[in-house]
Amino acid sequence: MSGIYVHIPFCKSKCYYCDFYSIVLTSRTKYLKDEFLSALLRELELQKNFFAHRQIDTIYFGGGTPSLFSAREINEILEKIFSLFPVRTDAEITLEVNPDDFSVEFARALKRITPVNRLSIGVQSFVDKDLQVLGRRHDAHQADSAVITAQDIGFQNISIDFIYGIPGSVDPFYSMELNLSKFYSLHLPHLSAYTLTIEPETVFGKWQRMGKLKPIDDDTFARLYETITKSLIGHDYLHYEISNYAKQGFLSGHNFSYWTGEPYLGVGPAAHSFGGDYRYWNIANIEIYLKEISQNKTHQHKEKLSERDKFNEYIMTHLRTYQGIDTEYLKQNFSTYYQNISQQIEQFEQQGFLYRNKQGNFALTMRGKLIADSLIAELFV
Ligand code: SF4
Repeated sequence: MSGIYVHIPFCKSKCYYCDFYSIVLTSRTKYLKDEFLSALLRELELQKNFFAHRQIDTIYFGGGTPSLFSAREINEILEKIFSLFPVRTDAEITLEVNPDDFSVEFARALKRITPVNRLSIGVQSFVDKDLQVLGRRHDAHQADSAVITAQDIGFQNISIDFIYGIPGSVDPFYSMELNLSKFYSLHLPHLSAYTLTIEPETVFGKWQRMGKLKPIDDDTFARLYETITKSLIGHDYLHYEISNYAKQGFLSGHNFSYWTGEPYLGVGPAAHSFGGDYRYWNIANIEIYLKEISQNKTHQHKEKLSERDKFNEYIMTHLRTYQGIDTEYLKQNFSTYYQNISQQIEQFEQQGFLYRNKQGNFALTMRGKLIADSLIAELFV
């Protein structure tokens, strides 16, 4: 599996919790959109040998807000990708869309003009109060309409995002109950559900420092996580990654390849790439990005991964998924590092944090998922 990630770095406004790289489109910054599109096409040309002829299985438009581009512009980017890389005919092509941009006209044009075959809709919640607190531009009705429009136009592979544990909103368990019941009624095949994390450089981070916002405590988060996970498993969703749930056949191929160490190319400012021995990333500044691309310079940052980095990366990514860590693979490829942690793995199994799955790999139990970050940190060498 190999994938291409396209970062569209524009938003209509900044949500209060968001620390993804994007700039707000205003009359002053509007000109950057056209310049960015030309630079992106140029960057793709400059990166045409990144994969050394590997087939491309997935393409993902994320952001920012990719739905601020027209269907024709999205198709122009895709045509450039198809002309430069060997993309599989049945590649998964995902577009992130925001409910307030997703009109019937846009959805129809997307279906008619582009080969986009998967949508990730940034719903976040079907509760108006949650959306107001998060600083989202859409309301619950628009979220609902966006999903129904996508389905009516013929998109079947649809994911939505939820954020839960929102301080200062309605009771988080009540919100979760409403959201899950709405989710089930829409018969969607995929859900990404994230606990709210307050990042320092966001409006929420500022409010927290000022004492205006009190985050929800860890115990409540743990109970919310258990509630959502048990409910979704009970409705036959596969809990295939810490925050992701899918019906059989609808796992996100693109994201799954990140978690299983496959190579990917990221284009656009702040986009990251991974090529086995190296990790690369573009600068998170559109003006510098445009200048660098105009001088044919790509990947402003580059880091060579040591064997230790690769081992830690394997533990961190694989343990997040239901496939877990393959100890035979670790023994063969990282025998010394593996010896350092083999006893710890056994101990985690005895403590009920890890179990052996059907493939014989060690994966997280429900208890383990609740403290995944600290378990992963314990297994780092
Ligand atoms: S959450 Fe999405 S829409 Fe909101 S500011 Fe961040 S990237 Fe933009």
